[in-house]
Amino acid sequence: MTSLIMIFGATGDLAHRKLFPSLYRLFERGRLNKYAVIGVARRSMSNDDFQQSVKDSVLAALGNKDNLDEFASHFYYQSHDVADSSSYAELNKLAHEIDENYQLEGNRIFYLAMAPEFFGPIALHLKSDGLTNVKGYKRLVIEKPFGHDLESAKELNKQIRTAFSEEEVYRIDHYLGKEMVRNIEVIRFANAIFEPLWNNRYISNIQITSSETLGVEERGRYYETSGALRDMLQNHMMQMVALLAMEPPIKLTTDEIRSEKVRVFRSLRTVVGDEVNDYFVRGQYGEGMMADKSVPAYRDEQMVDKESNTETFVAGKVMIDNFRWAGVPFYIRTGKRMAAKSTKIVVQFKDIPMNLYYQTEKMLNPNLLVIHIQPEEGITLHLNAKKAGGHLDAQEVKLSFANTGINAMNTPEGYEKLLYDCMRGDATNFTHWDEVAYSWAFVDKISEVWEGTKAEFPNYASGSMGPQAAEELLEKDGFFWWPVTDLDVDNCK
Ligand code: NAP
Repeated sequence: MTSLIMIFGATGDLAHRKLFPSLYRLFERGRLNKYAVIGVARRSMSNDDFQQSVKDSVLAALGNKDNLDEFASHFYYQSHDVADSSSYAELNKLAHEIDENYQLEGNRIFYLAMAPEFFGPIALHLKSDGLTNVKGYKRLVIEKPFGHDLESAKELNKQIRTAFSEEEVYRIDHYLGKEMVRNIEVIRFANAIFEPLWNNRYISNIQITSSETLGVEERGRYYETSGALRDMLQNHMMQMVALLAMEPPIKLTTDEIRSEKVRVFRSLRTVVGDEVNDYFVRGQYGEGMMADKSVPAYRDEQMVDKESNTETFVAGKVMIDNFRWAGVPFYIRTGKRMAAKSTKIVVQFKDIPMNLYYQTEKMLNPNLLVIHIQPEEGITLHLNAKKAGGHLDAQEVKLSFANTGINAMNTPEGYEKLLYDCMRGDATNFTHWDEVAYSWAFVDKISEVWEGTKAEFPNYASGSMGPQAAEELLEKDGFFWWPVTDLDVDNCK
């Protein structure tokens, strides 16, 4: 791939922990042919110091590498305040020089790894100061959050679209870089045994959990304005719902896949007013024990209001009112300081019409298809089979495929895949504006209600799986959350 990559926010956490190591891995795999990187941030730094910081970040992430000097020699640094109009001309001059030196054919990727309030102004400057005036391609990669609600997202989109067409905008949702999230489509559409069952005739409910053990750490200031609903549900969780629920695309092209996902968003049952608390539960962690250590309540974290109404947990029942999914709840939950770090999807199939067998005094378990997203990657199919030596007894058996067991070393990092996709011009695994807009419209109805009423927080202990109300959300429908740790690949015999 041939490209000049400009990283705005090149001294920040994301650039160091994710972007530099991912670029290195692309380099190592021979996927960067002609490339150069300009890092932009305010602090002053020489090119040598910047290159050293790039090498340090690769060393920290991947260990020692022989060709690090060669890799880092393509990195340049410009001290530049993105709010200062005068420095863009200088940046453009540097970009032209580097483009010529490395013969980058006028291809430019602008990666905005900065606080979201800068996204719009940078895009406007890139156009007005001529940085987007190139003979090759120009692409804008933009981090989350994309707006704070539908209105602010529309405003941001308007600013971006003055400089870039929709096809040139790559809105990152790093969940779409995860191997097993990308595998959802393949599991569904490449297996004759699943697709005929993938509907309301055979599936009773689908559960998506993304739980973290970490608290808010030092991100209190940002998190206070966001909360779990905006930080996790509006983007990552809703993207997983769309991939699980979409119709098969007629072709595997970006437009076809995105338009099927958009149709799911259009079918979401909007919940408003009093209904919100029937369909959604919010929570905030209190103090508790994590790995034998006591941890503070959210309200006692740094830069968090002592009376904070911000949710660190959200669970919900999402209904998709279309022919395929009518009546099937998609239960989603995500939170911080939960008992386990796990992202999993459980597809629970309906019970068989008549139970002929018993599993030692219990009814048979329903069939489950578990998709393990992280930390382990794989699939487990839960079936029932005859218990060895028994008469009419059945027992649960699990067929497992663990991705990590096969080629752990080669599982590419999400950001590596997303950067490569962007260089190839493949926007399939980035979110289209329509997806963002529908998702905000859905979420805004929930936040309107929650922001208008004070919650009784904290309502779950750190180290638990969330508030009791999240259990009741399923119980009232006759279901329960499948315990995420029992479903781990390692626990499958
Ligand atoms: P960060 O560590 O705070 O880095 C911010 C960067 O912006 C620094 O390089 C900073 O450098 C630069 N900067 C700030 N003000 C500037 C200005 N006026 N002009 C030029 N540069 C300026 O933030 P981050 O954690 O990397 O996050 C960046 C973006 O990625 C955010 O939108 C975040 O939501 C998103 N994100 C981050 C992660 C993650 O793991 N970190 C994950 C998902 C999404 P100077 O101080 O030197 O200017």
